[in-house]
Amino acid sequence: MALRQLSDYKGSELVTKILAIVDREQPLHVSLVGGDPMVRYRELEELLPQLDARGVHTQIVTSAFRVIPPSWKEYKRLNIVVSIDGLQPEHDERRKPATYERILKNTADAKITIHSTITGNIASRPGYLEEFLRFWSARPQINKVWFSLFTPQVGAEGPEILSSEQRVFVAQELLRLRTLYPILDMAEGLIKEILSPPESPADCIFALTTGTISADLQTRITPCQFGGEPDCSQCGCIASMGLAAVGHHRVLGPLTAGHLFHASAKVGRSMKRVRSKFSKTSEPESQPFRILPN
Ligand code: SF4
Repeated sequence: MALRQLSDYKGSELVTKILAIVDREQPLHVSLVGGDPMVRYRELEELLPQLDARGVHTQIVTSAFRVIPPSWKEYKRLNIVVSIDGLQPEHDERRKPATYERILKNTADAKITIHSTITGNIASRPGYLEEFLRFWSARPQINKVWFSLFTPQVGAEGPEILSSEQRVFVAQELLRLRTLYPILDMAEGLIKEILSPPESPADCIFALTTGTISADLQTRITPCQFGGEPDCSQCGCIASMGLAAVGHHRVLGPLTAGHLFHASAKVGRSMKRVRSKFSKTSEPESQPFRILPN
């Protein structure tokens, strides 16, 4: 099914339905991603205080085509992530009307994180990432910069896909740049994960700990946020790499946090199977949402 075939919601109905999911699933973190969530700007004004009151960390991923309200800086658990496709000439070409000029204007009084996806085209240009970091480091509204690497679907071809040499080059470049540009918020362990991504969704802690729900607020996107059949061996998603790095953290001797996670997930799955055997529905009933005081 294509995204355009899904019905989506607006206004209070959208807010109500999202809060019902949050109250049912009890997530630690919610990401609102595009299209562009800022299209539903009024609904966000209603939703953000409710998510904040629930103690949920929230991320809005936007092109910043519209002004980010300065008042949103008050939400300590909110992260505004602006997607930028490289330096100005490449970005403006692809993202018009959300051009560099407009991003700078619309984020002038906000605090934002920049996220950029490195493609094969970018990786082949020496000095590109450093120029990007130099430009954004000089802007006071930027909290941090994140990079992901383009993740293809299995069997896909095209200039966006990085070769294995380019992946090694990018990892080395990021390891060098993180010491020069503190704004680059990528730990050494995370960057090294780029060179050995999870083998499959079953090995990916990120895919196992997140749920992605489409615009109809029902359809699940699997096995991870990329949908379809993503090529894990070429994954470059910063979130996946971050959790993989946590998973490889040694807890005791050869025992890693990942070993504990996978053992715990196995127990959880068994418990779920047992529970669903004794209940009529496998999914919990949708609860009405609650309005919490700010
Ligand atoms: S996030 Fe990356 S590694 Fe994890 S399932 Fe998706 S493509 Fe595979």
